[in-house]
Amino acid sequence: MITKKGIDEIIRGYDVRKLTVCTLGSHSALQIAKGARDEGLANLLVCTKKNAAFYKDWPFVDEVLVVDSYKDVLSGKVQEKLRDRNAVIVPHGSFVEYVGAANILEGLDVPMLGSRIVLDWESDRKKQFKWLAEAGARLPREYKNPEDIDRLVIVKFPGARGGAGYFLAGDEKEYTRKMNSLDLPDGVKAGCMIQEYVVGTRFYPHFFYSPLDDSLQLLGMDIRYESNVDGLSRIPEAAGIEPSYVVTGNIPVVMRESLLPGLMDLGRNVVSASKKLFAPGMLGAFCLEMICTPELGFVCFEVSARIVAGTNAFINGSPYSSLLYDEPMSCGRRMCREIKEAAAKKRLSEVLY
Ligand code: ADP
Repeated sequence: MITKKGIDEIIRGYDVRKLTVCTLGSHSALQIAKGARDEGLANLLVCTKKNAAFYKDWPFVDEVLVVDSYKDVLSGKVQEKLRDRNAVIVPHGSFVEYVGAANILEGLDVPMLGSRIVLDWESDRKKQFKWLAEAGARLPREYKNPEDIDRLVIVKFPGARGGAGYFLAGDEKEYTRKMNSLDLPDGVKAGCMIQEYVVGTRFYPHFFYSPLDDSLQLLGMDIRYESNVDGLSRIPEAAGIEPSYVVTGNIPVVMRESLLPGLMDLGRNVVSASKKLFAPGMLGAFCLEMICTPELGFVCFEVSARIVAGTNAFINGSPYSSLLYDEPMSCGRRMCREIKEAAAKKRLSEVLY
């Protein structure tokens, strides 16, 4: 794994007047490329043959680099090209999923916005729970043994699978029956997490933490639109249909204002805990996945340590970002502004690793 010193060395060799914001053509790439254009930075999207034409068509996309597979971003040739362009990689969900957190840590020697150490924590549910617990967040109860299941639970499998294969169970018998009927490798089954199913309303707030002035911003908030669970309420007799949680879209939401102070405290605690656990900690965009109970408490079931796709609902700004900025400020644009401001202040090393 390239050291922080190694990345700093690369940054020192960069022409900071000619930085290029780079990401994979997927997930929130349009928002990021548009954000770069709005901030006066060049952008480059690494695309597969299949989607290159789609991304090339947008007027604000400067350059598309075509690869056979997204993993090719790890090849020496592509990395060299990116460094030649003074590239700063902005990782998003598909970037982490397609290239792989471990591969990024092991073999990507191009500066990335934020600290890459967080990828190790984000890609492991157990580490995520340790981090959220350190932040004092309330977590769903976790069951180590199926025989302890005493309420409705959701069973999740490793990796950012968009909820595919997840199932609900009310007791050990149901758990065993459903687990046995699943066509998944034993290794994947063994890595499952059995979590209390929390009933309430979901919120996915989008935060941005800047180490440049130690500020935490709330840039937006969404609810994931998930298939088929979000369609079940439309069927009067949905009992018997197994819900699934595959993300198919995102719906904008605002939170009751009296809940916002508590939300910001939680966001700050998540940043402080990250600094304690894996310095320099969580830098830049992140999202807490949470459920608000009828007692108005938050239960967090996941943290995404990067831009989330729900920010695509706010490419032109959100109700929250428009309170902070008098111009449209997407999360993608905010990240590009961070790069621009850090470069202007000669503090790039504080926001890149
Ligand atoms: P992934 O990271 O694979 O997308 P998540 O942990 O985000 O998986 O879970 C997928 C979806 O399942 C969530 O968006 C939410 O709708 C639902 N969910 C997850 N955990 C819980 C929970 N503990 N209680 C209630 N619903 C949950």
